[in-house]
Amino acid sequence: MSHNLRQIQRIVVHHSASDPRTTDWKSVRRWHIARFKLGIGYHRILEYDGACFDGRRVQVRGAHAPPNAGRIGILAMGWNGNEKHPEWKWSEAQWASLFVELRYQLERHPLALICGHNDTKATLCPGLELGKELKHRGFPTSNLMAL
Ligand SMILES: [Zn+2]
Repeated sequence: MSHNLRQIQRIVVHHSASDPRTTDWKSVRRWHIARFKLGIGYHRILEYDGACFDGRRVQVRGAHAPPNAGRIGILAMGWNGNEKHPEWKWSEAQWASLFVELRYQLERHPLALICGHNDTKATLCPGLELGKELKHRGFPTSNLMAL
């Protein structure tokens, strides 16, 4: 199912809630095929070393934050702010890769706002650090974003 690229309103950032050193884009593909019977629901996946992989094409509606239309989904492997697993937090390389990807998407979708999954529903994804980091760097974020 496609969505109109001129109507991209949100760039939604997610975490994988997993150890970023041992889960990668192939893990996400396995999880999503098992859950949705379709391929990866995110549009981009950022691994621990900062490498960025394509998931679903941006032209195709994702499966990450319903209703998904008008929303690009970016997943960074890991989990910030998990007290049981502090080692799961995003690496510096992932943060850097995320900012590059967000700038890239904003150039193509200048009206879009960045938000966390937790702005679209009650969830811990992707942790509370994101809003602070984005604000610090001057990114346009949704008003709903927890800061
Ligand atoms: Zn999420």
